[in-house]
Amino acid sequence: MPEETKSGCCCPGVEGNEGSATEKRLGWQEYFMSVAHLISRRATCTRGHIGAVIVRENSILSTGYNGAPSGLPHCNESNCRIYRSIHPDGTVEENCVNTIHAEINAIAQAAKHGVSIKDSDIYITASPCIHCLKVLINVGIKTIYYDKPYKIEHIAELLRLSGIRLVQVNVQSDQRG
Ligand SMILES: [Zn+2]
Ligand SMILES: [Zn+2]
Repeated sequence: MPEETKSGCCCPGVEGNEGSATEKRLGWQEYFMSVAHLISRRATCTRGHIGAVIVRENSILSTGYNGAPSGLPHCNESNCRIYRSIHPDGTVEENCVNTIHAEINAIAQAAKHGVSIKDSDIYITASPCIHCLKVLINVGIKTIYYDKPYKIEHIAELLRLSGIRLVQVNVQSDQRG
């Protein structure tokens, strides 16, 4: 017989303990976005730490964070190499040439292991850049959940034309942007 607590429940904090019996259970969207934030802590590009989680039917299919390709020096060891580009609206963008973005790494991980991600959703700690959005459309992602907005004005037209959904899920994050 398993050992019983006085309340008959094995969970701590249910009765008589100080603690958080009433702590709110995370909803699915907060749960996956929180996982994406945790994953972002593996990121190595010093320009920003982003995490991504690809999900279907409340199961995680693949994950990714931004960093250099496997086996190559990471930015936190060898410094970012920044290039500038000019968006058609005239704004100047800076990106790191070393780095694969988090959502592309999540797609790469799925491809590597032969996991279909068609009709799935993705949680990303920041909204995708236009280049990643194009790939997300083509792998069959239905909904993009993001926490922090990143140059959303650059992807507005592509969102409208593609029909892919973009939804903000703002979790209280202890991470820097
Ligand atoms: Zn970098
Ligand atoms: Zn991107």
